[in-house]
Amino acid sequence: MALATVQLWGSYITYWTVLGGFMALAWWGAVPGDPSWAWFLTLAFANFVVLASLEQLVPRQRRFDLRKDDQKWNDAIHGIFVSIASLIDHRLAELVCLGLVIASGGMLDGLTSASLWPAGLPFAVQVALGVILWAVSADVVLHRAYHRIDALWRLHELHHDTSGMHVLVSARQHVGEGLLNALFGILPLVMLGAPESVIWWTALWTVLVGNQIHSNVDQRFPAWLGWVHYVLPTPQFHYVHHSRDGRQQLSNFSGFVPWLDIVTGSHRHPDRNPVAQIGLEHSSMPATIVGQLAHPFRRTG
Ligand SMILES: [Zn+2]
Ligand SMILES: [Zn+2]
Repeated sequence: MALATVQLWGSYITYWTVLGGFMALAWWGAVPGDPSWAWFLTLAFANFVVLASLEQLVPRQRRFDLRKDDQKWNDAIHGIFVSIASLIDHRLAELVCLGLVIASGGMLDGLTSASLWPAGLPFAVQVALGVILWAVSADVVLHRAYHRIDALWRLHELHHDTSGMHVLVSARQHVGEGLLNALFGILPLVMLGAPESVIWWTALWTVLVGNQIHSNVDQRFPAWLGWVHYVLPTPQFHYVHHSRDGRQQLSNFSGFVPWLDIVTGSHRHPDRNPVAQIGLEHSSMPATIVGQLAHPFRRTG
């Protein structure tokens, strides 16, 4: 009885402790004006280790055990590929901007020159703006396109092809999808000339949140906090998007900024949309890493 109460109260503070703790740790280790990508990778990996450990200690659902998932090593390798792709995306976005300037015959010369970015706003507001722009581009536009266009769905299918939910599912992405996700996310910021420190914090938010919303850690919210699923990215909110049910799968696209799904009419509150099963109804995904990487390019039918 007493143990159940402790577990319940523990589950109420887990979400805030992990997400808030890592943001505070990032702030503590950040060198002003010199965003370190080595520190970024250290935080991302430490966050993964903490969440994977909590999954073993206080799992949300016992049936989703990372250790028993026969795709875990594939997921880890996909995660390494996606991390490398994401790190080169910043330069790729700069090249895209340069290409736009050349293609426009100089008309877009001001692109990336920081003239359009509201650098006078408080830093936290700039990061919030960065997160919203990233989410609009990557989650609202690109993520919806993945689910609507067959050729793009074949890139995104791997992420949904999972029988369990745990922190490594965050890494289960085709490298092509990883490349596109980060490119679409970062492009508006580079185009507007956002400082690298804003890009650093925005990208960190997407990684920490990405890990947390896929993790199988018992992190609950009391009934009076039900509105949090409209405001902050929660595991329960993203779980609905991983549903096997087609209507539920076509909702909750924005893993980083849930209220964008209210704007686009695709928000399903997790408390009123229980998920029976996750994954895919029909999947032709190969079990091997090579087959999974080749999957989007294979002929169908
Ligand atoms: Zn999706
Ligand atoms: Zn997901």
